[in-house]
This record gives sequence, C-alpha cells and structure tokens, in this order.
Amino acid sequence: GKKGGKKGGNNKSDDDDYITPRETDYSTWYSDVIRHSAMAESSPTRGAMIIKPWGMSIWELLREDMDKRIKNEDVENCYFPLLIPMSFLTKEAEHVEGFAKECAVVTHHRLTGSPDDPTNLIADPAAELEEPLIIRPTSETIIWNSFRKWITSHRDLPLKINQWANVLRWELRTRPFLRTSEFLWQEGHTAHATAEGASEDAVKMIGVYEDFCSDMLAMPTITGKKSPSERFAGAEETYTIEAMMQNGWCLQSGTSHDLGQSFGKAFDVTFQASDSSISPVYGTSWGVTTRLIGAMIMTHSDDSGLVLPPKIAPKQVVIVPIPAKKNDEEGAEKLKASLDSLVKGLTERGVRVKVDDRDYLRNGAKYFEWERKGVPLRIEIGPRDVKNDVCVFKWRKWKEDKESVRLEDAADKVVEELEQYQEYLLDNARARLAGGTRLDVTYDEMKSLLVNDEASQYPGAGLFLVPWKCDAANEEKIKEECKATLRCYPKDVNDMKMFEGKKCFFSGEPADRMALFGRAF
Ligand code: AMP
Repeated sequence: GKKGGKKGGNNKSDDDDYITPRETDYSTWYSDVIRHSAMAESSPTRGAMIIKPWGMSIWELLREDMDKRIKNEDVENCYFPLLIPMSFLTKEAEHVEGFAKECAVVTHHRLTGSPDDPTNLIADPAAELEEPLIIRPTSETIIWNSFRKWITSHRDLPLKINQWANVLRWELRTRPFLRTSEFLWQEGHTAHATAEGASEDAVKMIGVYEDFCSDMLAMPTITGKKSPSERFAGAEETYTIEAMMQNGWCLQSGTSHDLGQSFGKAFDVTFQASDSSISPVYGTSWGVTTRLIGAMIMTHSDDSGLVLPPKIAPKQVVIVPIPAKKNDEEGAEKLKASLDSLVKGLTERGVRVKVDDRDYLRNGAKYFEWERKGVPLRIEIGPRDVKNDVCVFKWRKWKEDKESVRLEDAADKVVEELEQYQEYLLDNARARLAGGTRLDVTYDEMKSLLVNDEASQYPGAGLFLVPWKCDAANEEKIKEECKATLRCYPKDVNDMKMFEGKKCFFSGEPADRMALFGRAF
C-alpha cells in the first residue's frame, strides 16, 4: 500500500521538521500538519487530545461566531451536569442501544490504598455509589428530565436551549479533532407543541450549520437527510452536512435531529393545549464539535502546513520587521514609527495582527513557522522599505509573488484582500467538491473507482450521486463491497426530483430518491 512506500531510504518522518506530502500518506500528512502548527498533541489519556493555544484560539473564534448564530434563533444557553444517573439512559430504548456501548461509568466516590500497599490506590469498596453515574455522551436524557419540570402549558413552548460542553464517547479508533473520545461541542435542544414546529427547527438548524461552514470555514457542504440506518439513536429524522476532504473522502460535519415525540414520551414531558387536551412534547437536538477544526484543516491545508481562512485565523497578519543595522539609530526609529502606525491602522480596522520581533530567530525561521501555522498574510518591513514608504506582502497559498505595497495604503488593502482570500479558499473548495462528485455512474463503475484504484491519487476517492431505492440491506452490501456508505439523501437534488424516471443504480428498481455515496472518515 501507500504507507509501504514511505519506508524507503528517504523516510523523513522522524525528522522533526518534515511534513509528509498528502500524496505519500494523507493520514500522516494530517497529523504532521497538526503537530507542526502546534494546534494539538496526543495526551496520556487514551483517545483524548491536548488542544494547545493555537488550536484553542481557533475553537474560540468558531465558538464565538456559532454562539451568535444560535442566539439569533432565539436559543438561550444553559449548563447541565457532566454526570448523569445511569437509569436516565435506559428510558429511551433506541437511545440506550446507540450509546450504551460507548459509555464511561462512575461507580465510586473515593480512592483508598489497598490493604497490603497503601500507595496502590483502588476504588474504595466502602464508597460505591448506590446508582452509578455515566459521563454524558450527549445530554438529551438529563435535559428532557428538566423539560418535564419546565414545560406544562403550550405557553411554555417552543423552548430552545443550548449548551457548550465536553462529552465522552468511548471511541475505539481516534484521530485528532475528527474523532476523539472526549470532544468539545455545542448541543442544542428544543421542545415544541407540534410535529411541524420540531421538524422546521431541525431543518433550520442544519441550515445554520451549512451557512457557518461556508461563511466562516470556507467549506462547502452537501445538506441532506440520513438514511434510517445512519440516524441518531432516538431520532425520527437526522439531517446532516457532509463535506468532501482533499483526499475525496466524506466527513459528516454536523447533524440536526428531529426527535418527534420519542423523548417527550420517554421522559413524560407533556403540555396542555389551549383546548385543554394533554399531549407529549416534540423535540429536536443538534450539534457541532471540534471535528469542524479537523474538517477545516483537511479542506484547505497543503504540504507546507496549515492554511487558515481569515475569519477563523487567530492571527490574520504577521508582521516581521527586519531590524536596522546596529549603528543606524535613525533607521531604527523610523522603522519603529512606521511599524507602530501600520499596527495601529490594522488594529483599528479589526484585523488580528501579530508583530514577530523575536531577536533570537532568523527571518527565514519566522517565515517558516508562520507559514506552517497558516497565517494568511505575512508583511515584511525593513529600513529600506521604510525609506521608500512601502512594505512587502506575502500571502499563504494564494499569490505566488511578494508584492510591494505603499505604507499608507497597506491597512485598507489588507482588509480588502483578506476578504478576497476567504472567497478564494471557498471557490477552491467548491470547485474540488464539484469535480469530485460523480453523477450517472453504474454500480460497477463506482465499485471499481473505489476499490481498484491503484491509478488514483488517493485510495477510495470520490463521491457518487446516484438514483436509489431505499433499502438498508443493499446499503450494507455496498458498504462491504466498496467500503462506501450512504452519506445522505441530498436536499437540493431530491427537491428537484432528479430521481424521477430513473432506476436504482444498485437494484434496478424504480428509484425513489437520489443518494450520495462515498468513503467517510
Ligand atoms: P451526534 O450527537 O451523534 O449527532 O453528533 C453530533 C456531531 O458530532 C456529529 O455530526 C459529528 O460531526 C460530531 N462527532 C460525533 N462523534 C464525534 C467524535 N468522537 N469526535 C468529534 N466529533 C464527533
């Protein structure tokens, strides 16, 4: 396989500065980018990662913007406990089936030295909990338990809350950001008087996620419904946004669930209508996680490291001043004045700017570091530039050449070009998604493209939009033969009824929808 190729004489993966090229090994490239941009590192805790300042700053920008969008939909923030009584999980039958196998359990509230060796800590048998607690894998159960108290009348509905929290799912195969056992997320939970109210909200929130991904992350997504076998445990309908990564694999980047009355019934949450009738409440839940950072990395970054869309970049501009000669005091003063005024101009325009004036590093080393960290624009400014009233722009990934820019124009130009750069990244990603999605393929063609793909750049690349007749058993067969899963029934092509008059690409029966297949992370 591709990994074998790496083991040749020029294996540089041990070299601390080396980023494995995407084509050599996409998976190693991904971890190299994360390591060399100092976003995150592995932790002593199995499956969990340490998010370092650069990665956390990105999460904070993401969270700040998403939080505004959520509040814009009349949703208020709450906080619920990390630990949930185990019995809560058992109340909704499908939910327990979906989450029990990934649940961590707290059984004791004290440690003690074992009788023969006091330094050997064990859970104190005398401190066993009467009822075990689970660490939340998601919070529907404890939230619906409160909804029972909060909701009595139709006047209490709709009720819309959100929380920013960590959750834990005992994942067996993990990868930084994309799938960790503990992850950070927001989880929205709403309650409604009608089925329509819930389904409208579920659809609306997946739209909020779609807009966020395209506006902030410059990442186009395909919005659709999950097939029954891929639905959230306890949901009547799951809506998803699916994005295509540079290796042609799909990534589920956010989900929104129409829960129908399942949690209303399981937790006995009812309301009295204006005609005095009493009925169970309808609900939704929806979430996005630190996975979005992984999606962003895999969408834009290249073999030189991280590439950040400006809206999500902790620093949008790094200025590297090139110091004046030691005895050139006048030069040093003028440089400082120009630098200060440039920083002021940028800050006033809301640009996140960093001056890298570390005197123990060479310019080349600074350029290299900021390139790997994905800062969109580097500005170089030295005494000679100041004499000519200019500075020098160098863009990450975008324009090949350095550009000399008049100092008085620089701040305005930065603002204008940051916007253009954000667009450029989105356009690139859109073109890749369009180019990587195939229509009108037979099943054999798809299979040979996904399985016998020696010739292709990446193994298992490509998404396939095909006419389909809903059938879980056939879905399973395709998964076995192609490793591809049914990602979703995309909304736009199904609204257009593109399947009409077509036959299912697998069974040959009349198609009742369009389906998107692909390999997924
Ligand atoms: P769910 O509550 O299962 O619908 O999950 C909500 C979203 O969380 C999914 O759409 C994924 O994008 C994301 N997600 C699920 N599992 C993980 C994980 N282990 N690590 C990071 N993100 C995850």
